[in-house]
Amino acid sequence: MKIVDEIKLDFDDILLVPARSPAASRKQVNLKRTYKFFHSPKEWTGLPIMAANMDTTGTFPMAVALNNHDAITCLHKHYSAKQINDYFEYYNHEKNVWVSIGMGNQDIASLHTICQQLHHSPNICIDIANGYTEKFVGFCSDVRKLFPDSIIMAGNVCTPEMVQELILHGGVDIVKIGIGPGSACTTRLKTGVGYPQLSAIIECSHAAHGLKSGEGRMGLICADGGCRIPADVCKAFAANADFVMLGGMLAGTNECEGEWEYHLDKDGVWIRQELYERSDDFVAALARGGGVVNIPNDSMTDSPHVMLPKMSKQKKSLLFYGMSSDKAQDKYNSGTNDYATSEGRVKTIPYKGAAASIMKDIEGGLRSCCAYVGATSIKDLPKCAKAVKVNRTHFDRTV
Ligand code: 5GP
Repeated sequence: MKIVDEIKLDFDDILLVPARSPAASRKQVNLKRTYKFFHSPKEWTGLPIMAANMDTTGTFPMAVALNNHDAITCLHKHYSAKQINDYFEYYNHEKNVWVSIGMGNQDIASLHTICQQLHHSPNICIDIANGYTEKFVGFCSDVRKLFPDSIIMAGNVCTPEMVQELILHGGVDIVKIGIGPGSACTTRLKTGVGYPQLSAIIECSHAAHGLKSGEGRMGLICADGGCRIPADVCKAFAANADFVMLGGMLAGTNECEGEWEYHLDKDGVWIRQELYERSDDFVAALARGGGVVNIPNDSMTDSPHVMLPKMSKQKKSLLFYGMSSDKAQDKYNSGTNDYATSEGRVKTIPYKGAAASIMKDIEGGLRSCCAYVGATSIKDLPKCAKAVKVNRTHFDRTV
């Protein structure tokens, strides 16, 4: 085995260094980017953050919420073409919604159906766990020929030569970077394969940006996976990511779909229920459940009843799982193949409220990061950012 001697870095291995600057206040930092693409003739402007196309986070409600921030949602693969068309018809903001596909023929058929209805081609995310096969490059190139106008993102890979291969021979505009960094991913544990995400972003963006097809048209990358806190998103942009994709950070927000667990809370309202059964056991059970039992005596005109507290349902936690986990394979592919193993984990994520609050936190972190290092925009962040290697990034225990 050949060993590369240089230690590769992850988000926790560095801190960005503040620098004196004439840069504007946080308020004036520009978080929007405008991109032209290597192949697609489209131009895109917005906040270059994407919700992952996992079935919990790549949802229609997420697309509505993130569009309010001019950010992107990659819809998961399990929506039908009809559901996607209905959504586009109603909300009409295709610029910030990417349609995800795998490598199946039915995926291409579904894209054609969407195209026919939209009268133009949607942005496409071609997503498979291992983007290193020749077959994958060929498939991406076929999709490019069929949908020449689409912005095509494809992955995942984590090394420069494959980034260039996908852009030059696969017709891809944005290469999705990340093998094994994801919060619901166990690839590194099962296979020993991966690449520290910060170094992957630095090396792959360098390779992509070196490929140009015209004025302002170059290869781009999306850093996918491993962001746990706003600081990681800042570091990904500082390392020259063009887009950053988030799964776990958005998981547990109100806009997620899937298996929720609920709290039952008393909300102070009482409901009257007539009491037809009066056995001692039944009455005792109602009382234990918080009910107040009223059995009027003969002189009263009221009927026997119980006052029960009205319960309201509050989201408590979401089941979040990797798309290669046994859980997802059972749900969509009738189980994991005999020759494969699960490469995803299942977690319970506490309810986090609206996705808008997570996005606000990230936007605030990005603005502040730019102001600290002297950048007036996230476009300038990689040029202004200097990082130091560290052994500890922050104080993580209570005193
Ligand atoms: P996160 O933001 O949660 O750290 O990472 C999200 C990314 O993890 C996704 O966009 C996807 O690329 C990756 N991912 C999702 N499910 C799985 C899985 O089951 N196995 C692996 N290896 N990666 C996954």
